[in-house]
Amino acid sequence: MKTRSVNRLDIITIFPGMFEGPLTQSLLGKARQRGLIDLRLHNLRDFSADAKHRAVDDRPFGGGAGMVIQPEPVYRALKHIRGSRVAGATRQVGDKPYVVHLSPQGRALTQADAQTLSERPWLVFICGHYEGMDERVMKWVDAEVSIGDYVLTGGELPAMVLADVVLRLVPGVVKDVESIRNDSFQTNRLDHPHYTRPALWRGKRVPAVLLSGDHERVRAWRSQQAECVTLKKRPDLVI
Ligand code: SAM
Repeated sequence: MKTRSVNRLDIITIFPGMFEGPLTQSLLGKARQRGLIDLRLHNLRDFSADAKHRAVDDRPFGGGAGMVIQPEPVYRALKHIRGSRVAGATRQVGDKPYVVHLSPQGRALTQADAQTLSERPWLVFICGHYEGMDERVMKWVDAEVSIGDYVLTGGELPAMVLADVVLRLVPGVVKDVESIRNDSFQTNRLDHPHYTRPALWRGKRVPAVLLSGDHERVRAWRSQQAECVTLKKRPDLVI
């Protein structure tokens, strides 16, 4: 059976402009142009209950520093997204989006998690800001994902990281599937070293085996190098 893959991603943010560069350039930009991915940005302020000021945050109950994102705009944004017409042939009628909240308190992102997410046809990312979201929003969240044990000012950069990691796994986004298969973390090995022209550069030669034209020897060399690199740089990956 053919595995389904994500073909629609909705991102809820108070800074949609931040996504312009990263999601319009390079492979993701091309994937969008080619219709492989339907990516939609939603400004949380458009769903504010405060028509005059378009505010989406308020002071925390109990006092203390910072502001908190209110639940109502997030609820309205999700309702709007769920009710919107779906593009892409692989999504089944009745499918619901899988909602991810970017949070430093979430599970730390791995390549395996990205693979699992990339097989869900429809994803929604919610970017927090300030002190974060009103906890009652979590009722509509399927998973919390962190990009590492540190705190950023907002969920926009983490959402871009997650979008990039997940969407490059969609068939057709990266042309040569082989290059993904050998990438670090696809298995419990890091990638092997890479070389390109010229073969002799400032007195340094490319390993002779790579110029031999013997595909079997090249494959064996790369596999052995991947093992060495992993042991040297990330021995914790080797079981
Ligand atoms: N008060 C929160 C805490 O300590 O858990 C941190 C809030 S942070 C300043 C604002 C927003 O940035 C979060 O709601 C989240 O969306 C995002 N964020 C910050 N660090 C993150 C991380 N490591 N991974 C994913 N999202 C993160």
